[in-house]
Amino acid sequence: MTREANMKNIVLFGPPGAGKGTQAEVLKDKYKLVHISTGDVFRYNIKNATALGTLAKSYMEKGHLVPDAVTIEMLNAEVDKNADANGFIFDGFPRTAAQADALAQLMIDKNTQINAMVALEVDDEVLVKRLLDRGKSSGRADDANEDVIRERIAEYYRKTDILKNYYQEQEKYFGADGVGSIEEITVRLSAVIDKL
Ligand code: AMP
Repeated sequence: MTREANMKNIVLFGPPGAGKGTQAEVLKDKYKLVHISTGDVFRYNIKNATALGTLAKSYMEKGHLVPDAVTIEMLNAEVDKNADANGFIFDGFPRTAAQADALAQLMIDKNTQINAMVALEVDDEVLVKRLLDRGKSSGRADDANEDVIRERIAEYYRKTDILKNYYQEQEKYFGADGVGSIEEITVRLSAVIDKL
């Protein structure tokens, strides 16, 4: 088998506050994967006052998604920076059908595929509470305001939640309970990833 066909590429999915970033940090070390968080890349660009950062900020501060064309171009560049990767954990991408199509094509271009979408399931009111708590220490403007938090969750249901069907149709969708300790949730996710 070629190295590319052997890669494990995982979409870690779920609404804002589901714990994707926390779990991705654990799983990337456990499975030796490269973690790409589109939110982190946007925040890095905001901090460094790049043109991409300025554009992304105008959407992020309202709780809206950054336009697909910009986000897809950025994601492609991040994947290209990691040509030697064993595989990727995509955290916060894809968030729209257009992004999922672009990701599928990118994987084909690299002679590989998405193996699974693993989704963290958490009730909406728990999400709001978690994000407000995180806002006390994260320094993230979009965590500090309840209206923006609720708009991010609404945006998730408008544009992102449908991706479950997209991966279900390909028999690549796996849900996991996202409530519990960090370690308990890692065990649930690992049970899925170990079978891939
Ligand atoms: P996150 O860190 O994943 O919670 O993302 C924070 C914000 O960055 C989101 O509310 C969006 O404004 C933006 N963002 C992150 N990933 C994407 C994406 N795949 N598509 C569009 N906007 C995104």
